[in-house]
Amino acid sequence: MRVVQLGEGDASVAVVGSIHGDEPCGRDGIEAVLADPPAVEEPVKFVVANEEALAAGERYLDTDLNRAFPGNPDSESHEERLATDLTAELQGCTVLALHSTQSYGGLFALVDDVTPTVRNICPRLSVDAVVRTAGANEGRIFSSLPETIEVECGYQGSPEAAENAERVIREFLAATGVTDDPAPVVAASLPVFQLGGPIPKDGATEYEVFARNFESISAGEPIAAADGETVYAEEAFYPVLLSAEGYENVFGYRATHIGELD
Ligand SMILES: [Zn+2]
Repeated sequence: MRVVQLGEGDASVAVVGSIHGDEPCGRDGIEAVLADPPAVEEPVKFVVANEEALAAGERYLDTDLNRAFPGNPDSESHEERLATDLTAELQGCTVLALHSTQSYGGLFALVDDVTPTVRNICPRLSVDAVVRTAGANEGRIFSSLPETIEVECGYQGSPEAAENAERVIREFLAATGVTDDPAPVVAASLPVFQLGGPIPKDGATEYEVFARNFESISAGEPIAAADGETVYAEEAFYPVLLSAEGYENVFGYRATHIGELD
């Protein structure tokens, strides 16, 4: 874990990247900001979390770090120990955690709940949607650090994801008052979805998806297929994190539209 601070004193704002070692956009976005650092009014910490998994080019060495919180300092698992260290490092901070996916080229936020912090910050980030994950946070960073906003920055390993990460870090620093840049509201209205159950995926050699993330799908419409076997929607919902190859056992998740931030 690499920690760099801008500004003096105890930081109450932090940016963490590369919790997953196969998502270099977080590290790259942080390094781009540190290479051209903004003038800061308040201290801010930057953390490149899973350096060992990054070096290995793997999502994790022993355990998915974003399923390992609050962690265990005595564990044999690298990520269980790292989760403890990250929790201690970031305790009390408003945190931006950078991720990337195989499901969506744009940016969207994941939050535990729609708190005043989320209401204030998310409309000032270049995100297309906010996904509330309350009820599905076992082992996630939210279970230790609820004042975290995760942002999915685009496709894993793409140069766009790294550029998006840098942009959203600078927007977050403005929105939290770390910098005195203007922090305009980016979108007039930002849809909020509640994360629901998984869309199961059977073992197969070829997968396809037919639905699009954050676009409503009606009962009876095809969602995806495994080796030509089509999965249909049993009821209307909004797909989230939907991709052909992103996860081993699920195509993605069902979500419901629960409101708008404006
Ligand atoms: Zn991730």
